[in-house]
Amino acid sequence: MVTTTAAPPRDEDTALARVRERVELVAPAINRGHLDRDREAVFSRDAWRELAGTGLFGSCLPEEVGGHAGSLTDLMDVVEGLGYAVRDSGLNFSAATHLASTGFALNGFAGPELRRLHLPSVAAGTSIGCHAITEPETGSDVLSMSTTGRFDGDQVELDGLKTYVTNGPVADLAVVYVRTSDTPGPLGLSAVLVPRGTPGADFGPALDKTTLRTSPSDSCA
Ligand SMILES: Cc1cc2nc3c(=O)[nH]c(=O)nc-3n(C[C@H](O)[C@H](O)[C@H](O)COP(=O)(O)OP(=O)(O)OC[C@H]3O[C@@H](n4cnc5c(N)ncnc54)[C@H](O)[C@@H]3O)c2cc1C
Repeated sequence: MVTTTAAPPRDEDTALARVRERVELVAPAINRGHLDRDREAVFSRDAWRELAGTGLFGSCLPEEVGGHAGSLTDLMDVVEGLGYAVRDSGLNFSAATHLASTGFALNGFAGPELRRLHLPSVAAGTSIGCHAITEPETGSDVLSMSTTGRFDGDQVELDGLKTYVTNGPVADLAVVYVRTSDTPGPLGLSAVLVPRGTPGADFGPALDKTTLRTSPSDSCA
């Protein structure tokens, strides 16, 4: 049996209210076949493209990179709408990961070159992002991570293994958190952008999961 819950009504006319409306419009197409995809653990790129077409992935990114410059509260409203409209909860999880992990880190902390190169595709959803913090021996206790980064000019050489990386198997961009100095605590950590295809970076095969099966995750080195 499928139960439906109506989304709370909205009457604002903002860019993100229109994103939310467009998500509701594309939801029936995305919802078609979602149980089969879940059974077979299939991430749907067609469904991702439908979501991307709504402008969802630019929700909180600046207008000059194609975003809507919304606030975090606006984003929560849009993601709530996604949850009401789209039944593919793995896809929603992947979308939320992309929204929270890649765009925020790049927009908040990257230099002008990385922003220019990557933010437009992150906002458009034509690239898929992930973030890698967790390690096989380090979950909640993030500060004890053992993956290291060694600076070499404007490049960083990474050494370590990450796991439970949502979107990893399909990601174009990974924001990888590593220890780059002996300074204890968070000040010794850095976030490094690793595009797919970077020599030596292995994005790994998909892990088998019991739930959120349409959201692919992996271990990467
Ligand atoms: C579906 C899914 C998607 C994920 N996606 C990502 C991702 O994209 N990127 C990424 O980096 N990671 C991801 N993770 C990993 C997630 O962040 C970790 O699972 C989480 O940090 C917990 O780590 P752990 O699994 O090693 O559990 P542990 O840290 O070993 O914790 C096990 C249990 O012990 C409890 N516990 C731990 N420390 C304490 C303490 N000091 N006091 C009391 N209780 C404690 C915890 O609450 C938990 O119940 C994902 C995990 C899941 C399940």
